[in-house]
Amino acid sequence: MKYYVKTSWDENVPVRNIYCIGRNYRAHAAELNNEVPKQPFFFQKSLPSLNTSREIIVPDNRDIHHELEVVILVQKNGENINEADVQNHIGGFALGLDLTDRNFQNELKEKKLPWLLSKSFKGSAVVSRFQSKPIEEDFWLKINGLFRQKGNVKDMVFSIPKQVSYLSEMIPLLAGDLIFTGTPSGVGPIHTGDKLELGIGEHSIHSIVVS
Ligand code: MG
Repeated sequence: MKYYVKTSWDENVPVRNIYCIGRNYRAHAAELNNEVPKQPFFFQKSLPSLNTSREIIVPDNRDIHHELEVVILVQKNGENINEADVQNHIGGFALGLDLTDRNFQNELKEKKLPWLLSKSFKGSAVVSRFQSKPIEEDFWLKINGLFRQKGNVKDMVFSIPKQVSYLSEMIPLLAGDLIFTGTPSGVGPIHTGDKLELGIGEHSIHSIVVS
């Protein structure tokens, strides 16, 4: 079974791996009482967690939090990519939600266990269509019409070139890999019936309903 993301030019691109950086905005690290890391660190979401639909199905009795993030699509294989060359390896930019089972993640963190199971439930890697243009304006999440998260890539602890270069030194990147580049502050729960809108600047680019 293959999993695909869509582009604004109507291409379906098969996805390989889903990587995510943690604690990449100072205000978000602080809101969860975490220190800002000195080096980037990453975790993965499972491939079947990919969600390009218009629906989030929340597992029963779980405290699922939204984490709004810029997502990048890797367009060609690469190892040890120089920061200056990173732009040649990126095939598109999207907005996404790194949905997280927060209580479960906290339990795993306390036990010093991997976060995988709190980050990888079906439908938990929400991704909009990819555009070719970098996301330079403020990006945002509204829930039921109210702003809940707002961010700008210039506030990242580790810039996109830095994190892609670093990750490619550790793991060969493959065409079709996705990288979630971290969430700004304002994470919080979603509930059945919520209507979520993701946008850039003045424009809403993706809407999704929680059921
Ligand atoms: Mg995240």
